[in-house]
Amino acid sequence: MKISILLYYKFVNIEKPYEIKLQQEEICKELGLKGRILIAKEGINGSVSGSKEQTKSYIKFMNSHPLFGKTMFKEELSKEHPFKRFSAHVKKEIVRFEKPVNMKNTGAHLNPKEFLNILEKNKDIILIDARNDYEYEVGHFKNAINPETETFTEFPDFVEKLKGNENKKILMYCTGGIRCEKASAYMKEQGFKDVNQLKGGVLNFCKQFPNTAWKGKLFVFDKRLISDVNQSGEIITSCSYCKKDYDQYRNCKNSLCDKLIIQCKSCQEDMNKCCSEACKEIHEKHLREKQIANQGKHRIPIN
Ligand SMILES: [Zn+2]
Ligand SMILES: [Zn+2]
Repeated sequence: MKISILLYYKFVNIEKPYEIKLQQEEICKELGLKGRILIAKEGINGSVSGSKEQTKSYIKFMNSHPLFGKTMFKEELSKEHPFKRFSAHVKKEIVRFEKPVNMKNTGAHLNPKEFLNILEKNKDIILIDARNDYEYEVGHFKNAINPETETFTEFPDFVEKLKGNENKKILMYCTGGIRCEKASAYMKEQGFKDVNQLKGGVLNFCKQFPNTAWKGKLFVFDKRLISDVNQSGEIITSCSYCKKDYDQYRNCKNSLCDKLIIQCKSCQEDMNKCCSEACKEIHEKHLREKQIANQGKHRIPIN
């Protein structure tokens, strides 16, 4: 059976986020969904997974909800649940930007067809990837600028560097569209006049126009880490150690480091799944200590 994964968001004024959290917990438990939902006064942002039937029922529930009607759901199919459990959290923001922006003044939404048309015809545009560096690495639109951010809160620093281009046509995109809502509103506030965003993000685009302007895979924020949205198997990056074509991320085994690394199977073996010799040493020392502690536990007390 295929698992259906939904990704969605809606900016809407939520007076009582905590009540919505309880309501979401209840409905998702009832339906048997897994996933993660963030709720704030500014709206809701979630990803849930379940059988096709389960996610269909969830969409029905949301569509009839007084606050969440007309939410756009992006769906992917997967062989397994990308989430271990379900959780809902009340946060300050549904996507952390840390700068207040006027959400009534976002950039224009382009559907995938309009977006692709401009990419193909307009030469004098600025195409911005509103995601982070590690996401860009494994897949991006051809000719897109990588802002080289580690977190979305660094995006305003990148906008600072673009000053002087206020009259140029700006196109931007992110995974499912939510980051562009804030990023585009922010750019307009900074004086950029023609700001446009991809409606429904890369997920929506690749469903309609696979194997066109998008190159490589899509980084996703669940257990899978990357999704082959073009279903082409195309790999655009390589193992950071031996340079062999490879694009599956993993975290450095040294829990103090935890860095996301692209490391092929054979280099994983050589490095004990660590990102550097230093991390390998710390990780192996930690393993030895654990082993000694466990031996102690099984020792029969003398008296
Ligand atoms: Zn390698
Ligand atoms: Zn490390």
